[in-house]
Amino acid sequence: MACETLQIPAASPGQHFQLTVCRFGTPGMEKKAYVQASTHADEVPAALTAMHLRRLLESAEREGRVRGEVVLVPAANPPGFAQALLGHHMGRYHLPTGRNFNRFWPDATQAVLAARKVFTDDPVANAARARSIMRTHLETLQPNAADEQLKLTLMQLAHDADIVLDLHTDDDAEMHLYVDPDHWPALTDLAGLLDAKVVMFARGSGGNAFEETVAAPFVALRETGVTCELPVTVTVELRGRLDVDDALAMRDGRALFDFLILRGIIDGEVQAAPEFSGIAAPFEATEPVRTPAGGICVFLKERGAYVEAGEVIAEIANPVTDTRTPVRTRAKGRLFTRCLHRLVHAGDVIAKVQGTMPLPGRCKGQLMTD
Ligand SMILES: [Zn+2]
Repeated sequence: MACETLQIPAASPGQHFQLTVCRFGTPGMEKKAYVQASTHADEVPAALTAMHLRRLLESAEREGRVRGEVVLVPAANPPGFAQALLGHHMGRYHLPTGRNFNRFWPDATQAVLAARKVFTDDPVANAARARSIMRTHLETLQPNAADEQLKLTLMQLAHDADIVLDLHTDDDAEMHLYVDPDHWPALTDLAGLLDAKVVMFARGSGGNAFEETVAAPFVALRETGVTCELPVTVTVELRGRLDVDDALAMRDGRALFDFLILRGIIDGEVQAAPEFSGIAAPFEATEPVRTPAGGICVFLKERGAYVEAGEVIAEIANPVTDTRTPVRTRAKGRLFTRCLHRLVHAGDVIAKVQGTMPLPGRCKGQLMTD
């Protein structure tokens, strides 16, 4: 393994951040996988899983079993790791700018589309050309703030990968994935290995999340009629933020490692994986359940519960008026995420329910809740 340390330029005098990048295998040999963890820096089960994946990759490399290339960034957000305010760590937003660490990633789509004439009818060569254009485009960018510098560095590491796994964690949640619709059902093996309960098909969701932004130039090319390989880009939500457990992280790291075996990047045997038996459906069928009132959120349903449309999943207790407001779902489906904080304000998303049919008002470009 080669380990390198990249500098994130100082945003203020005396302040420096370092990004650790672990490289396995040989660039240009077979396929490249890129894995990053905890770009939302408060989602630490992701980084713990990356530590276990790193061990497995190290041993595979010692045994000469890395056929392709793997780039692993086990702690992808040093500025976010450092953010604390009054005793509380805050890793979702870049505090100086208020920007979400997993939105507004540098997007090379327009640069690739502008060069449409260079593409032929060879999907492999076209993907290579698109990556070359992306690389050139990224080199022209001149970010300023620390979060922008970080995003550009990470995108430069990821843009030419065939497989991109972005490891996150939700609030109080079951394992779930965001994948491009064109990679389903091909990714049922990954969903089975991870024992995912929900898989969402996300494209053009809005906000330029990392996994969608890496794939966006290829998606756009294909939509213009150019045949082009589409990288496998997945956001893996490794349960909830309090699910910090070595046994779980070891199991999840092994699942990701096995996925790399199945895709031919690592040589080896794959453990038997459960069949995927969860819900796979469009992101438009995901209901972010908002509370109509503020107060103390008392859930009536556990995570993983199946709920009917209109069912009450929580009550918002108001200790001032001594009243309770029911919170009902619109979707029928699986309650796979609940909020961790229990003092809520009107309009807060307190849970997510995965149905199978797109919901009225859930529109492309506006699917993210923050
Ligand atoms: Zn996240």
